[in-house]
Amino acid sequence: MNKKIWLSSPHMGGTEQKYVQEAFDTNWVAPLGPNVNEFEKAIQNYIGQNKFVAALSSGTAALHLALVLAGVKQNDEVLCQSFTFSASANPIVYQGAKPIFIDSEKETWNMCPFALEDAIKNSLSKGKKPKAIIVVHLYGMPAKMDEIKRIANLYNIVLIEDAAEALGSSYKGQKCGTFGDFGILSFNGNKIITTSGGGALICNDSETKQKAIFLATQARDNAPHYQHSKIGYNYRMSNIVAGIGRGQMEVLDIRVNQRRAMHQFYTEIFKNRADIVVLEEPSSNFSSNFWLTTILLKSFEQRENLRLYLEKQNIESRPLWKPMHLQPVFEKYQYFGTGISEELFSRGLCLPSGSNLNNQDKKRISENLLNFLEKN
Ligand SMILES: *Cc1c(COP(=O)(O)O)cnc(C)c1O
Repeated sequence: MNKKIWLSSPHMGGTEQKYVQEAFDTNWVAPLGPNVNEFEKAIQNYIGQNKFVAALSSGTAALHLALVLAGVKQNDEVLCQSFTFSASANPIVYQGAKPIFIDSEKETWNMCPFALEDAIKNSLSKGKKPKAIIVVHLYGMPAKMDEIKRIANLYNIVLIEDAAEALGSSYKGQKCGTFGDFGILSFNGNKIITTSGGGALICNDSETKQKAIFLATQARDNAPHYQHSKIGYNYRMSNIVAGIGRGQMEVLDIRVNQRRAMHQFYTEIFKNRADIVVLEEPSSNFSSNFWLTTILLKSFEQRENLRLYLEKQNIESRPLWKPMHLQPVFEKYQYFGTGISEELFSRGLCLPSGSNLNNQDKKRISENLLNFLEKN
């Protein structure tokens, strides 16, 4: 059997172990420590816009803290992109709040500004004002941030950007994760860079970052004994994990270029097939890290045929995210849209996009895809 080709697997840069070793050598094994500070600084420098970054245990933890800091409470409404991974929506329910799911538009596959405004008007008409908007830059493709931000500002609603898949992507030259009141990143094992598991919250000011760290470290008041006036969480990143992150930040730009090259590789393969769409940047305003290259086939059947064909060759591919409003656990919540995300789910496929795929892997992928295309 040929070796397995994965959708997206960890890709170390080489200096990660050095930073982890330093943590051992100095016994900075606890949360806190020089790696955490340096990792946060590296992210801040990378994303710019004078943001403040708090390194946390996961992207999901970062989203949860963003909602806590936005004041989201029991029975509040939060508008969330439906076409995403469940981690974008779960923290809404942790807070006892209600997600309202918003469909995608066709160009970026992210939150549709029209459906978003419909949902806001609907809530307002019932005397309820949504507390926050969670927009996602799915697969690394920036959402239409001018439109989304205009609506968030117009109705004065907190904007949270889920940039878990979009570190290194930008919109009009500004990095994803820096447009909202909060942004979140993930360093889970399959993301563009990884710390094995981890995340970060991007804040607008140092006070908010300090509040996030306070909540992430069990909300301990300033007293010699353990005293608590607020519910806290154990969400801080450890100094060991942050050591991996420091090494990964050194190769982030290389990783972005490698993922973009994978996207180019697929564009070439499908260039003569007008019936199969490779998701492209809608204009030069959008720069995707192309965390995953995604395609739309003609039909559900053709999508499944290709997925199973690749699986037989030990090549991993995966249907696009199943929209949240179709998930059994979220079925009872409201949804605004026109079925675009449903269509994407039915016909879409993610292709192997790792930065560590070598020429032999690529040859195997392209031969198999071309074989399939010839017959289908
Ligand atoms: C990975 C991911 C998350 C969650 O990040 P974790 O670090 O795995 O908790 C959230 N949203 C999206 C869109 C993701 O892909």
